[in-house]
Amino acid sequence: MNRASWETSRHEEFRTRVRDVLRNVVLPHADRWEEQGHPDPSAWKLLAEEGLLARGHRGEAFLESAILLEELGRTGYAGVRAGVGVHAYMATSYLDMFGTPAQKEAYLEPARRGERLAALAITEAEAGSDLSRLGTRARRRDGGGLLVDGEKLYVANGTQASFFVTLVRTRDDTATAHGLTGASLLLIDADSPGVHRTGQRMLGWRSADISKVVFEDVVVPEDRVLGRWDRALMHVVQGLDFERLAAGLLAVGGVAHCLELLNAHIRRRRVKNMPLYGHQAVRHAFAELTADHELVTQYGRHAALLHSRGELDSRTATVLKLKATELAVQAAHVCLQFHGAQGCLDESTAARLYRDASAGTIAAGASELLRDLV
Ligand SMILES: Cc1cc2nc3c(=O)[nH]c(=O)nc-3n(C[C@H](O)[C@H](O)[C@H](O)COP(=O)(O)OP(=O)(O)OC[C@H]3O[C@@H](n4cnc5c(N)ncnc54)[C@H](O)[C@@H]3O)c2cc1C
Repeated sequence: MNRASWETSRHEEFRTRVRDVLRNVVLPHADRWEEQGHPDPSAWKLLAEEGLLARGHRGEAFLESAILLEELGRTGYAGVRAGVGVHAYMATSYLDMFGTPAQKEAYLEPARRGERLAALAITEAEAGSDLSRLGTRARRRDGGGLLVDGEKLYVANGTQASFFVTLVRTRDDTATAHGLTGASLLLIDADSPGVHRTGQRMLGWRSADISKVVFEDVVVPEDRVLGRWDRALMHVVQGLDFERLAAGLLAVGGVAHCLELLNAHIRRRRVKNMPLYGHQAVRHAFAELTADHELVTQYGRHAALLHSRGELDSRTATVLKLKATELAVQAAHVCLQFHGAQGCLDESTAARLYRDASAGTIAAGASELLRDLV
């Protein structure tokens, strides 16, 4: 793989260090985390001690984040990469962009130190691709503060999170309750009375702690409103570009892992007196994926550079997320196919990659929605 145009020797050293840390902190435990549904709480501290939960969300510092996101993908565990991605980037980016100094001190800094785990609670049963159907509500409460009621689904880090960056409806009148008005972002502490959470076992991403989170008369102080009251969907649109950039970079790394696995397998496995690699059909399928991966990797690194300069546009973020996650599905399918029955074993790596890939084209914007946006 060619280096990114912006990658210096310092970046290369960082990539090597990240790879080593993930090899030591994540890989020996990741299968167990898949079983238990979430990383060990101690892993967050270890990642933080290595500085991996506090890399920049913008400016030149984001280039290191782009490397970290790719390398998280390259672990091959989409559940782990989603949990870390949501904590260190997708949820905390809202704090970074819109948080007050007091909110940053109470939530963002402890998150960077691995002391408080972050989750992003946006999706609901009726509000996934279509956020205008948002049902969770916050009302002003007699005696001060807000009262929150509603139910969020598919929340990564859900049962383990210390706080939720939560999207709620804050204006009820039907004339204004649609589109980009009438919603706000709130910081809700997970240990608040009335917060109930239950793990949701998914097809893939099993270590991402995907959960249902119910808010039942939860009292939230006024100073936990994140960003502008009633104007959150404007923030979410901005947040989604960043989320799609991060999701795209994670998927780029995921495809790299899948192709490494496939490459090793087709060189090792012999059929008709030669390695699978000797068969043209296999070689060409591998070459096709490798070529597409090269393109999407360079596009992802270009998108990261644009973001670091404050020039990332929605279209680039959308194209990256669409193409990288769809390539992950194709790669996982080919990888499984060339593993034969061995790839169909539930515990095989090829099977896990196949299961994990399908959620990538749904989370953070389904492919069909992204095509509409493009
Ligand atoms: C593994 C995983 C992790 C997730 N993590 C989080 C999280 O941490 N926090 C959170 O808030 N949410 C999370 N989500 C939810 C995710 O953001 C939603 O699944 C996504 O927004 C799609 O919403 P939906 O599932 O309700 O699908 P729906 O909106 O019901 O759409 C169903 C299908 O309809 C099709 N479709 C949608 N729009 C269009 C269109 N415009 N044209 C044609 N077809 C269309 C697509 O095929 C789509 O998959 C996660 C989801 C998954 C699968």
